[in-house]
Amino acid sequence: MIFLNEKDYSNCPVGARNNSIALGFGDKNIDFQTKNLAARFDLIRQVRLNCCTKDENDFKIAELNQVHGNTIVSVNESDADKFSEKIIDADGIFTSLRNYLLCIKTADCIPLLFYAQSSGAIGAVHCGWRGLYNDILINSADMLKYHYNANIENVIVVICPGICRNCYTVKEDLYEKFINKNIDYKNYFAAKYGDAVNDNRIVYGGGIKASHSDSPAEYLFDLKGLIKYVLFASGFRKENIRDMNLCTYENENYFSYRKNKTASRFVSFIGKL
Ligand SMILES: [Zn+2]
Repeated sequence: MIFLNEKDYSNCPVGARNNSIALGFGDKNIDFQTKNLAARFDLIRQVRLNCCTKDENDFKIAELNQVHGNTIVSVNESDADKFSEKIIDADGIFTSLRNYLLCIKTADCIPLLFYAQSSGAIGAVHCGWRGLYNDILINSADMLKYHYNANIENVIVVICPGICRNCYTVKEDLYEKFINKNIDYKNYFAAKYGDAVNDNRIVYGGGIKASHSDSPAEYLFDLKGLIKYVLFASGFRKENIRDMNLCTYENENYFSYRKNKTASRFVSFIGKL
């Protein structure tokens, strides 16, 4: 397990020693598949050991049935318990309550953790291409602004391990779908010709010049890069976005669906203590 907290505050994404937030991500040691209750207990135990002296019974896991949609939900006092029963279809979860570990399960998609320092709201979001295309990040920003009264300029965003731009190959129809939404998105795709990934013909933003006339059938997609672009456009500030720079496809410590079609998932989480 890797935890980013007050014990390691030089790397702490919240920017300073902070005894009130636990956040981080697991690895292959905890397979956070939906049915694996032992993994939930393991996470709680690890958070307690690493972050605080609270009783393990004080923590609750709050997670979602992730559906690659754009729905964001908030955990409020009155309905908090239902999030422990995993019945909600959504891909982003926010709260200002203490002791709920907001959990996102992934194996290549990008897990994002949010911490609004001024308002005290936290969030965890699952963002693959579908969620990004359907504006899950805009919905997340709106949730922080309008439900939690957060100042977006001060919100910390942690980009947990996910597939990097060298490893994410997509078909031309996906490229077209994105540039039809916004032509600037072309900067996050690079045409891939044959073994072009191994030479320096790869240029993002349409600058590629192939030595032959074949149309590219595939593109490399910089999903994390486009996520950052959309975050900046939504008012988040560059210096508050902390990319852990870990690729799930390349790094053996994490699960990668694209690599081996695994059903296993690792967890990214954030909780107020
Ligand atoms: Zn990679």
